[in-house]
Amino acid sequence: MILTINCGSSSLKYKLYPSDLSDVLAQGLIERISAANASCSHEARGQKVRLTPNLLDQLSAFELMVSNRTDPEIGVIASLEAVTGIGHRLVHGGTEFTGSIVVGNDAMERLRKCAWLAPLHNPACIAGIDLARDLIPNAPNVAVFDTAFHQTLPAKAHTYALPYELCTDHGIRRFGFHGISCQFVSRVAAQVLSRPIEDLSMVVCHLGNGVTIDAVQGGRSVDTSLGFGTFSGIPMGTRSGDFDPAIVFHLVKTLGMSIEDVEKMCYTQSGLLGLSGLSNDMREILAAASNGDTRCSLALDSFVYSIRKTIGAYAAAMNGLDVLVFTAGIGENSATIRSRICSRLGVLGIAIDERTNEIAGPELPNITAADASVTTLVIPTDEERMIATEVRTLMSRHQSAA
Ligand code: AMP
Repeated sequence: MILTINCGSSSLKYKLYPSDLSDVLAQGLIERISAANASCSHEARGQKVRLTPNLLDQLSAFELMVSNRTDPEIGVIASLEAVTGIGHRLVHGGTEFTGSIVVGNDAMERLRKCAWLAPLHNPACIAGIDLARDLIPNAPNVAVFDTAFHQTLPAKAHTYALPYELCTDHGIRRFGFHGISCQFVSRVAAQVLSRPIEDLSMVVCHLGNGVTIDAVQGGRSVDTSLGFGTFSGIPMGTRSGDFDPAIVFHLVKTLGMSIEDVEKMCYTQSGLLGLSGLSNDMREILAAASNGDTRCSLALDSFVYSIRKTIGAYAAAMNGLDVLVFTAGIGENSATIRSRICSRLGVLGIAIDERTNEIAGPELPNITAADASVTTLVIPTDEERMIATEVRTLMSRHQSAA
């Protein structure tokens, strides 16, 4: 069986698959680790349980995950020996990791050196690998990186026009994120169309609380909207998206803000929340805008407009577009947002069938209008399945090399 683990700074998400990935045997989410109101939802054998455990730290969360899985009532395995591979999501692998790896002692050291790249995420993930190695010592651990898919960006797309030595000597470049999701949905899109991925130019719109627009040509990421950090590109739930860096100088020099305050503002007080003054949740913004809230309307307009511009830019960058894919919370669930994005992209050959758009889902992913030259798809993302697929691929490579 393959176990996937996604560690956040105060959360732990896990899924257990049979080795052929034909099913999900168990899954759970532990939240607010270390807080008084920690909670755990666990689902297996068609049963859902909610627990309110007392979790002091990440170790107690791991112990709870292990005991949930082997519990005679809510578990699915008699012992941990059944776990043959563990996949971990790592948010940031820098330039050090261009693909998934089997984690040995050397790799652990290299991973620790990348911790600073994503201070809110990487240390928790690395601690998670340490714990998995201790608690489930027989199973190999595989690290899968959100940045790795974008390592194929050409230099013209990943290099910022700053003094060149900053790029070469200090690793300053566009990294891109949500790569696990973009890789997964671009592969599924090719399968849905029964076309070789090598022949396709796609734009993937990962529209969730975080947003990535990704240009994928021949199955390789060639440009992407997030950059060195995770707030460039499109306005997100609480992150700003692109803005002129001159504003930072103005805020610090003229308005007297500290650089820490500016950073906090860009990551946690901007985007949909900052514009609307109401919420980072797209459902609330949509509801308030339809009731006449002008700031929510502006937040929506700004979100849709910047996505449309980026799709146009990437179509130009790839010299044409075959497929547009919507995924993640907003992309999968909001027919309104999909419709608004596509409504003024006729110039690129994009048009959707509004009735199909309303009922799109896993069984009905193709929402393309009859007269469109670009195919538009709605594809649910599944980062855990992509991670489990990577574990399977690496383990079979490992076994055939041994
Ligand atoms: P994610 O980060 O992928 O979980 O996506 C979270 C975002 O998806 C939030 O902004 C939610 O408001 C949004 N979302 C989820 N369901 C819907 C829906 N039915 N309509 C609009 N937005 C939605």
